[in-house]
Amino acid sequence: MRILIVEDEKRLADALGEILKEAKYTVDISYDGESGYDNAASGIYDGIVLDIMLPKKNGLDIVRDLRKADHIATPVLLLTARDSVDDRVKGLDSGADDYLTKPFAPQELLARIRAMTRRQGEVVLDELSFGDLTLNLSGHSLHCGSKEVRLGLKEFDIMRMLLTAPKTILPKEELLIKIWGTESDAEDNNVEVYISFLRKKLFYLGSRVEITTVRRVGYYLTDTAENS
Ligand code: CA
Repeated sequence: MRILIVEDEKRLADALGEILKEAKYTVDISYDGESGYDNAASGIYDGIVLDIMLPKKNGLDIVRDLRKADHIATPVLLLTARDSVDDRVKGLDSGADDYLTKPFAPQELLARIRAMTRRQGEVVLDELSFGDLTLNLSGHSLHCGSKEVRLGLKEFDIMRMLLTAPKTILPKEELLIKIWGTESDAEDNNVEVYISFLRKKLFYLGSRVEITTVRRVGYYLTDTAENS
């Protein structure tokens, strides 16, 4: 499971990141509201831990925009320093799923995240499809007819992003940031390597779906049966 933490108090953010990583979550951290919002809007997360008081864009505005403008339903756990009824009500009204008042025990954070992502699991789609291809979201496997292959974590994340809007170009830059994170020193080649892994798997499956490259821009999916 992939969790986004948006918290401007760097020490707290990093400590939360460590707690979640120890609990086997994949974690990304944004230290301000603007980059937090950009990351959250990718829709690749299973849950978001969101501080309310943030520079550039506050937590309440982030949830509201995610829900209304981007139609992103990722569960959000709000962190609030103030134990104010007003904040909690505003938070839940804006579309957050739960809130936690600072300071809190690590166990409580983990319990809330488990509950929140479990609720999400009940309503969320378990698969994404395009052409003769189906991606199983909980099993991380790609299916075509009676054949299936398991995907590695990065392969899965890339395929999920491609399948979310198959015919729209997915910019290479966006893939780098969303999959490798802003702080990693991953390069363009990494993306190409993983795209080539995925192409081999599509070939193995005998799928009529192909990953089409737009040179220096990005990738999209083509259903070859539609073009013939
Ligand atoms: Ca803050």
